[in-house]
Amino acid sequence: MSQLSADRPAPALIFETGAPGRATHYVERSRPHGEFLPPELLRSELPLPDNSELDVVRHFTQLSHRTFGIDLGFYPLGSCTMKYNPRVNDAMANLPGFRDLHPYTPDDIAQGSLAVMYELERSLSSIFGMAAFSLNPSAGAHAELAALLVAKKYFKDRGESKRTKVIVPDTAHGPNPASAAMCGFKVISLPSDARGRVSVEEIEKVLGDDTAVCMMTNPNTLGLFEDHIAEIAAAVHRVGGLMYYDGANANAIMGNVRPGDMGFDLMHLNTHKTFTIPHGGGGAGHGPLGVAAHLVEYLPSPVVRAIPDGKSDLRRAPSDGMRFELDFDRPKSIGPMRSFWSNFAHAVRALSYLYANGAEGLKSVSQLAVLNANYLRVGVSEFLATPYPEICRHEFVASAQELKKATGVRALDIAKALLDRGFMAPTVYFPLIVPECLMMEPTETESKETLDLFIEALREIVETAKRDPQSVMAAPVNTVVGRIDETRAARQPDLRWRQSG
Ligand SMILES: *Cc1c(COP(=O)(O)O)cnc(C)c1O
Repeated sequence: MSQLSADRPAPALIFETGAPGRATHYVERSRPHGEFLPPELLRSELPLPDNSELDVVRHFTQLSHRTFGIDLGFYPLGSCTMKYNPRVNDAMANLPGFRDLHPYTPDDIAQGSLAVMYELERSLSSIFGMAAFSLNPSAGAHAELAALLVAKKYFKDRGESKRTKVIVPDTAHGPNPASAAMCGFKVISLPSDARGRVSVEEIEKVLGDDTAVCMMTNPNTLGLFEDHIAEIAAAVHRVGGLMYYDGANANAIMGNVRPGDMGFDLMHLNTHKTFTIPHGGGGAGHGPLGVAAHLVEYLPSPVVRAIPDGKSDLRRAPSDGMRFELDFDRPKSIGPMRSFWSNFAHAVRALSYLYANGAEGLKSVSQLAVLNANYLRVGVSEFLATPYPEICRHEFVASAQELKKATGVRALDIAKALLDRGFMAPTVYFPLIVPECLMMEPTETESKETLDLFIEALREIVETAKRDPQSVMAAPVNTVVGRIDETRAARQPDLRWRQSG
């Protein structure tokens, strides 16, 4: 059962529970309240509460139980790769030499940190078949924008500014067309065929000398492998366009196929999805941008440059025998997308994950992710339509269209009912081409037992919908908050605490 419970009273705000003189100073009792803060931050007009340490700990612990995360339960949010985040990665990022790195640290005394960036960059390039990566962008969408800026600059340098169109399949993730539009390109949406894929005939209809970039992901967001990818890439290259790979969800391909070998010129990764960095709730992300050889000089600045130190030719790791420096002198670069080292702690976490797995380990990560997705797909297909009944990759889509016609219960209601049963909901209503879509991605870190429990919960919801649709439409009733007005919550968020009375 869920950790979330409607009958648990809301924890009082610490502003409301405080009382003068209650603060405890275990460190040094003689110090008056607030003396641990630099004096210039103290403003006497602020009504800061005086709370005991115990009350503060309880307050934040209770708050932490009123939300849901991967550490609490199964989180099959399609296209988000919500896998276990190994704690060893955090331990590595917390090593003082990494954690306390100052943005202005001179290269000479930051060699270890530069080596981390270099090794991560080299490893990603080899795993994904690209010439080089930039670790600078700090999210998937941020890297997409960087990639399109690279493409724009590349075409400008070649005197091909007439290339104004970006082709995006109708299965694409929302940020793809948004990034293209932000970059000033015209977006051409490409319909998928009956097999849920881009066909060579369809793409040839829109290709021309105004084609700049074709943005795709493979497997696509239906979880299906684009089996004509080599012909598609060849057709785009024939007219002089570039192929862009949205690698936010690289969980099905690591160690099996490489975007570089499929013909892609640019790609991004979400290390905060595939490489186990905690995400969700808008936390800091990390979106390395990879490019083929002809685009390397356009990558964001700085990049880590390795210079053989002439001292050692013992190469156990790519960084052995090397001296590193941050290279800012790159005249063709699109410039920095982020200041200083970007989200360096995430580079440490990603490298820690790569080292823990090794090449063979990453391959089995992908194989298990695909196995889990197919196990779930077959289980779910017993009671919900799965519109593309074939082997999927890391995720798959189901549709509640028939159930809605018969009972009025929609994908959204199923999602809410799952919350009542202690599971995070799948992604709903995406991709847009599947009506009443539920998109599920179990990842490799879930056990068979967990997948079975989830399948049974879903089956029970569908059966309840047929018997008593109203009860499913009323869900969730066991969570801290019931149905909320999600549109208003996003458009007019009310985030301020106001003193009562
Ligand atoms: C998550 C995702 C993105 C966007 O990544 P952010 O880090 O959230 O900006 C882009 N494309 C796909 C396919 C994704 O799943």
